[in-house]
Amino acid sequence: MAEKLAVLGGPKAVQTPAGNIFDWPIVTQEAEDAALGVLRRGAMSGTDVTKKFEDEYAAWQGTKYALAFSTGTAALQGAMYGCGVRTGDEIICPSVTYWASAMPVFSLGGTVVFAEVDPDTLCIDPKDLERRITKRTKAIVVVHYCGYPAPMAEIMEIANRRKIKVIEDVSHAHGGVSGGRKLGSIGHVSGMSLMSGKSLAIGEGGMLCTDDRETYEYALSLGHYERFGADIQTEELKQFLGLPIGGYKYRMHQCSSAVGRVQLKDYDARNAEILKAMNYFWDLLDGAPGIRAHRPPRGSGAEMGGWYAAHGLYRAEELGGLSITRFCQAVAAEGCSTGPGCNIPLHLHPVFNTCDIYGAGKPTRIAHSRRDLRQPPGSLPVSEKIPAMTYSVPWFKFCRQNIIEEHANAFRKVAENYKLLLDSDPGNPPTLGGWHFFSHR
Ligand SMILES: *Cc1c(COP(=O)(O)O)cnc(C)c1O
Repeated sequence: MAEKLAVLGGPKAVQTPAGNIFDWPIVTQEAEDAALGVLRRGAMSGTDVTKKFEDEYAAWQGTKYALAFSTGTAALQGAMYGCGVRTGDEIICPSVTYWASAMPVFSLGGTVVFAEVDPDTLCIDPKDLERRITKRTKAIVVVHYCGYPAPMAEIMEIANRRKIKVIEDVSHAHGGVSGGRKLGSIGHVSGMSLMSGKSLAIGEGGMLCTDDRETYEYALSLGHYERFGADIQTEELKQFLGLPIGGYKYRMHQCSSAVGRVQLKDYDARNAEILKAMNYFWDLLDGAPGIRAHRPPRGSGAEMGGWYAAHGLYRAEELGGLSITRFCQAVAAEGCSTGPGCNIPLHLHPVFNTCDIYGAGKPTRIAHSRRDLRQPPGSLPVSEKIPAMTYSVPWFKFCRQNIIEEHANAFRKVAENYKLLLDSDPGNPPTLGGWHFFSHR
């Protein structure tokens, strides 16, 4: 049935006002009171609330230790250091991710080798990553991209066989599940952002989780001087107690920890509601040409977590080659917010190619390498195509069926009437997507 597309002057598919269905984060009176309590006690720089938050987080995550950081970026740097990443070492990280999955390695003297992502999961491709392991590889950073649980069983098998650590970056996928286990408790260590845009949003903050005491203590030694004391068990570290050996200060602001305790308590219920809403959205689009849900198959023992930066997959070949750019223009005209692309592949950015950050006389990426491991345009063909194969989808926080149906209709209407758009298709610009998604207020 040909319906007139809004972009060609027809009526919009989305008519009902969104209300608060997209609002995030949800800040309750209880969260406000918790933050005020910290302010009124003047306890912003303390650690009493933070330690309670860590205990609760570790229990929720199912790991022995949880260590709070000022940001997710710092937590990931701590995870890398905890895994033994030092000067000259390599990590392997997907190219399609937020920069903080990889960049903290530079400050440790290490470097990064980027791996391809799988075009269906948008997570690191296990086969490709194995090919990139060298004698200098210390750790693999696995990103559960846009909420999708990476194939952890396969990745852990490779890592254990090759004696390499796995760092899970759970910044997009709090509460997700892989192989029946909660993301963030499967790898050797995990790091995650808890900043305001993420699905578990506490303000600014990050968390590191692990079962391994030594990893925990090395991560702590970098930037938690006030806790780098008598109860440290790692022999090698004992001689340095009292000062942060990284020269960083990574303590979490206690307004964040106080809000975090409340957000964590409410999180499972909110995540379940998001899951229900997003699954309803994608169920409605089942079978629509050219578009595919970005979620694991049912019965796979895997489940999305939080759906941060939710995206869909695009298969232009099913739509006569219609560009993602024109497709998204048409969906947006229907009153549904979407945009083409996701994270621009990191290996294309000059900071990974030419930037001499620390004045070593050569680009930081290869400052301590025996070979030139830089990856020029064309070297990661799958990753470079991903932006033209993805688009953002609405992130529903409540399962209000009528609103979700209208948004799903916007996508279906455009997909089913794609032929009407082929003539006016401007094609894609040279780059799609951005280096990050969050827009600051
Ligand atoms: C947001 C994010 C981070 C960094 O977290 P911050 O709290 O912003 O420092 C790291 N990795 C990924 C994948 C992210 O999306």
